[in-house]
Amino acid sequence: MLLLTIHNFGKKTWLLIVFSILVIMAFGQGKDRESLDPTVTEIWEPVPPKVTPGEGTMPPSDAIILFDGTSLNNWTSENGGKAKWTVGDGAFTVKAGTGGIKTKQKFGDMQLHIEWRSPSEVKGEGQGRGNSGLFLMETYEVQILDSYESRTYSNGQAGSIYKQSIPLANATKPPGEWQTYDVIFMAPVFREDGTLSRPATVTVIHNGIVVQNHTTITGGTEYKGLPVYKAHGKKSIMLQDHGNPVSFRNIWVREL
Ligand code: MG
Repeated sequence: MLLLTIHNFGKKTWLLIVFSILVIMAFGQGKDRESLDPTVTEIWEPVPPKVTPGEGTMPPSDAIILFDGTSLNNWTSENGGKAKWTVGDGAFTVKAGTGGIKTKQKFGDMQLHIEWRSPSEVKGEGQGRGNSGLFLMETYEVQILDSYESRTYSNGQAGSIYKQSIPLANATKPPGEWQTYDVIFMAPVFREDGTLSRPATVTVIHNGIVVQNHTTITGGTEYKGLPVYKAHGKKSIMLQDHGNPVSFRNIWVREL
């Protein structure tokens, strides 16, 4: 008899029944919550370490300073030997033809702050204007380019993950002005056999504007063809010599 009745219910009736059950459940849950002890969900350990923030974009108390404005002691040439870029006025500048430079220390997951400046003397177009690059783990390029008033392919402009991810906005300042990149990078994880277990992700804030929002990196930066992952451990941070006198200052890292 009951079964017969249930079968006779229309679609609308069923919906009403289901809705009523949900409302009763929600109400019941709320009632249960009222009786819960709020301290049960309080977590007191571990205690986060105290870090004293820097003034403005200056390094916080626990940062590793990669460039303090005076020397390239923490850097080497990507070709081996001394970093040959020019240091002066609290900054350093790409010396064309000497090759990229990379940090002596190797990093994985990190928060990185770097300031860069396109040459005030505007030369070239597109990829030829104020080109350098921030290579995370020497492999994954966050493009540095004068994209203020110069078009190139969107996945190659400033703030792009080169040839992989278009920035969410063009936050580029005019050439000759200092610009900031704040980067949160999670290194790729590889299995014992060298296959990829978790791709790298990156968030990039350009002059205070999010241009990459937890972007998944699909492999090492390639000029030609598609990116591929090749297993590696911690590596240096590298800056690209693309032949243009791009300057840098105030570079610091916090390992995550
Ligand atoms: Mg570049």
